[in-house]
Amino acid sequence: MTCFGVSLRSGSSGNSTFIRTESASLVVDLGLNGKRFAMALDEFDQDPNQVDAILLTHEHIDHISGVGVVMRRHKIPLYTTLSTFTKAEAQLGKIDYDLVHLIVPGNPFTIRDTEVMAFPTSHDAVDPVGFRISSKHGDVGVMTDAGEFNEYARENLKGCKLVFLESNYDKEMLWNGDYPYPLKVRIDGRSGHLSNVEAAQAACFLLDHGTEALALSHLSQENNLPALALDTVKEALEEIGAQNEKDVRIRVSERYRCSAPFVLE
Ligand SMILES: [Zn+2]
Ligand SMILES: [Zn+2]
Repeated sequence: MTCFGVSLRSGSSGNSTFIRTESASLVVDLGLNGKRFAMALDEFDQDPNQVDAILLTHEHIDHISGVGVVMRRHKIPLYTTLSTFTKAEAQLGKIDYDLVHLIVPGNPFTIRDTEVMAFPTSHDAVDPVGFRISSKHGDVGVMTDAGEFNEYARENLKGCKLVFLESNYDKEMLWNGDYPYPLKVRIDGRSGHLSNVEAAQAACFLLDHGTEALALSHLSQENNLPALALDTVKEALEEIGAQNEKDVRIRVSERYRCSAPFVLE
């Protein structure tokens, strides 16, 4: 069994990350439709009917748009906090309540033999979380939609071998761009999104604590460019003496298609 993590979609048009550990198949967020989800898993020879859990980070539509239909079609259990579920419920349509498992940030839970920890993030949703997923081949962290890389993020992501990390916007592009002023303030604020520079600082911390692979994720289409995000993070890592591809593998997650998987071994 190959263990891997892969971004199926990334960005405000839809987010979903698939993680295969030695014991479980997990999906973090499901912001693509049922057909595309099944086709995405098929690219990696994975059966949607064998997925053990959908883990929800928060209720924004780019993270939940496909959750209801996929739960109905493939009978996949949903793991979410009570507040997020309550807020998201109207968007999910009719679902089987027996499939809903409520989680509490800071309390680890187990899916098959895989331990999962949800931790609070700073974002303008009702109860946003990031995830750390344990694996014998190295833990995997997922944190997108976060205004800051705070103490919770540091504590819960340190030591993860692979991290899906938000690198949403370039500050200059945001502030010189066409977004309305209140939206710029929101994105750049503590409950908004992580900038390339903030992602670069987070990357340095993570690399210092054992991370070997980074997927720069949830890039803004209007306020960022993949090459800019990549260069910002690479330059910061070079400054602390890390060499790309030798000390760390970095990729930008694709917006409209599946990215190359990160194999855990
Ligand atoms: Zn989002
Ligand atoms: Zn969001």
